[in-house]
Amino acid sequence: MDIPASSPTYGQEGLWGCYYGWAPPATPQLNSPEGFPNAFQTPYQCQMNTYQPGPAAANPATHSSPTGALARPAAGASYKAQSPSEKGPQPESKAASPSSESRYGLDPQLLPSAVQVMQEDQRQWEGKTFGAHAPSALPPLSTTDCIIEDKGNASPCFIRCTTYSFPCEALSAQQSHLPLGAIVTPLARQHKAERPVPVCEEGDCLRGCGECGAYMCPSMDWQDCGQRFHCPFCGKFTEVPWPQYQHTSSHGRRVDSDRRPELSLGSYEILEPNKEEAACLLLAVDVSGASLRAGQLESICQQLHSLLDTVYRAEGTEQCALRVGLLTYDHRVHLYNLSANLSRPSMLVVMETDELELPLTDGLLVPLGECKHIIQSVLQQIPLFSPEPQHSTSIPQDTVISTGLKILQEVGCPGKLLLFHSSALSESPSRTASSGIFSSNKPKSLFQASDSAISLAKACVSQGCSVHLLLFAQQDVGGAWPGDIPHLTGGGLFSYSNLLSKLEKERLHSDLMKIVQTVTVYKAQLRVFSSKELSVSGCYGSFIPSACPGLVAMAALDWHTALALEFTHSKALSEGRGVAIQVAVSYTSPNGEKRIRVHSLSLRCSASLLDTFRNSQAETLLTFYCKKMYCAVVERPLQCLREELQAEVTELLASYRKIGCTTPVSSGQLVLPVFLKALPVFVNSLRKSEVMLPGVRSSVHQRLLQRSRLLSMDTAGTVTHFYPQLLSLCVGDERPRVGEVVRCSASSLDPCGLYLAYRPSALVLWVGHGVSRQALMELFGNSCFSLVTTGEIKLSTLDTPLSVHVRTLIDTLQSNSAFTVMLKVVKQGDSCEDSMQCCLVEDKSPNGGASYADFLYHIHINSLRLLV
Ligand SMILES: [Zn+2]
Repeated sequence: MDIPASSPTYGQEGLWGCYYGWAPPATPQLNSPEGFPNAFQTPYQCQMNTYQPGPAAANPATHSSPTGALARPAAGASYKAQSPSEKGPQPESKAASPSSESRYGLDPQLLPSAVQVMQEDQRQWEGKTFGAHAPSALPPLSTTDCIIEDKGNASPCFIRCTTYSFPCEALSAQQSHLPLGAIVTPLARQHKAERPVPVCEEGDCLRGCGECGAYMCPSMDWQDCGQRFHCPFCGKFTEVPWPQYQHTSSHGRRVDSDRRPELSLGSYEILEPNKEEAACLLLAVDVSGASLRAGQLESICQQLHSLLDTVYRAEGTEQCALRVGLLTYDHRVHLYNLSANLSRPSMLVVMETDELELPLTDGLLVPLGECKHIIQSVLQQIPLFSPEPQHSTSIPQDTVISTGLKILQEVGCPGKLLLFHSSALSESPSRTASSGIFSSNKPKSLFQASDSAISLAKACVSQGCSVHLLLFAQQDVGGAWPGDIPHLTGGGLFSYSNLLSKLEKERLHSDLMKIVQTVTVYKAQLRVFSSKELSVSGCYGSFIPSACPGLVAMAALDWHTALALEFTHSKALSEGRGVAIQVAVSYTSPNGEKRIRVHSLSLRCSASLLDTFRNSQAETLLTFYCKKMYCAVVERPLQCLREELQAEVTELLASYRKIGCTTPVSSGQLVLPVFLKALPVFVNSLRKSEVMLPGVRSSVHQRLLQRSRLLSMDTAGTVTHFYPQLLSLCVGDERPRVGEVVRCSASSLDPCGLYLAYRPSALVLWVGHGVSRQALMELFGNSCFSLVTTGEIKLSTLDTPLSVHVRTLIDTLQSNSAFTVMLKVVKQGDSCEDSMQCCLVEDKSPNGGASYADFLYHIHINSLRLLV
């Protein structure tokens, strides 16, 4: 029997301790205890229940019902809750849902709000410029639209730190439980109004440290009137060669500093004189019987035809220099000589794919300007191939990748390899070999890539071959996961159910455009330098880890690829010198230029842990934890990781409470640094994400795909994934209001409203059952709720203000996403409402994850226990 949470008899005995007479104030308290100099730095305090020690706490996730977000607590569960009469004034609940309610009687609306944090930051920085001076101040949030000016420190869009004041001592760093990390997005897209990263030629650029190899940056300390400089990364001196000598001013700056980006800016690029081969585009199309029978081959070829047309026109010249190659495969590989001097293309069949020897290299990759008509005539003929009945499936996808890689190796260029695969996927040998009970090489986790995938991915990385695997008509049956190589090489995995559907065709078109048009650099080598008192102890992201965490090699890198760095003290830092971090990425540009992008950041350090807490941001911590945890799932059980994450945040709360409260605070008060207000809701969302907490209906492939995507996602994307944007579109009969952000909870949803939920992997339009007929008419072209089509659709193009607003909003959200996300319409009470519930991260989730209110209560109580 379900027991309503509002019943006075609900749960007579408290499992995690009792509380009495909790009467929440109408708004969260913002007290300002002594010792906090300005209101901006005031810690956040929120009234929680009065705590009395009780039995040891249990994991909230284990207590929540696994049957879905709307499931009420299991019958017989005994939790102490308050009757409505005991509660204080409640804000008007909109669409009250049991999944939004707290089992401890907390009012979710009074808990710290991530939306409020983001809105306050946006208001603070609206129309302003953040000057990235050294040492860096706390920057605007990644979700805030603001212009950043490089004043000697790398912009936060390139490097964002978990704290902008590192603790001086290793011991206090440990005590704080605040990880010292940085999220690096080396090629992040800048604001349109910002100055692009300047480029200087290698010969004109001042050379960096002769000892450790760090590049010249404003943190280098000039001495002896400019004859030599002290390197903060290794602590050694380097003499300046006489031709590059320039004297220094009384402030110790070289007099030519303002003319040299390497002396005055946090980010610059060095252009090396030598050039390499330009990148190419290699297309591999499955033409096996399975593919021909499935009937999508014609569609694929048409899409490729229009893709090449677009690329050709974008270059605007018949001299389109992008080299393109084509291969097709069934149980053999077919190569095409596309040389313009041949009267028609010639096909070469490769019989032996195990130890592939290419019969030719000339003509396999030809500039599009020369071979467009030839390649398009081949694309027209491909759907006419007749299938060979005795060979219905094709060679394994990994063999095709090896063949593509071989072509790039022979020609000596990097590039993108696009595989259009329709046959059944083949399992990599090491995974199938591990199925026996007594097998000794059993993989530790389903997230672990097979040895063969890693070794092929390594070969792709050293050649700069970025693999994009596009799958057609594949069933998600689990087991064969082909995504390791694409994701380890900076590419991606895309799956389409049926190309006969117009929407799927549009999705394929949009994905192809994103793949080809995203500016990508190749053969990226990332090297991290940090103050000599710190060492790089970890590096987390989508790449093959090396023995040295400060050195990363990647096949390809684009504007949204980010990775996380972790630093550990090797000795005490000095407040006078601060912290210096440098990330140098050498890469080959699409046209073959060798460049090195140098980002340098200088930070404060402090003996006071309060400074460390006050200068940290929840979103950066979330991104850091996400990358670290998603890397660790390969090695450790999920439950251990969830507990570890929870314990870290609990210790962090306890630590801040211990040092941050200079005046007595009642045990019912939650005390958080102001910029970490959103941390509990973010961490809870990460903890209960499908990757870390699989639900009954979780798909293995979806989990693997999400992990791979999040490992390389930047801060703004990660925040939006774990705390989706929930936009209210209109309420009742009022004039359409577009874009008001509300909290991710069912209680924010007005049944008379329309809401758009966006995260990088989902875009859901929720239609309340009470939406006015006029709004339905304006948006869907019919005024009846029951006639609104649900599922993946494209909104009709109607000439009404609401339709125009909503479609513009959807277009903007879709264009900002790194991969195509289709709109899904969900009606209130629908069977597919699950996809909306996944976005309501403050509530209990469909996979059984605890609500924000319960999680916050739990970590608060446990942090108090640590202080007893
Ligand atoms: Zn050095």
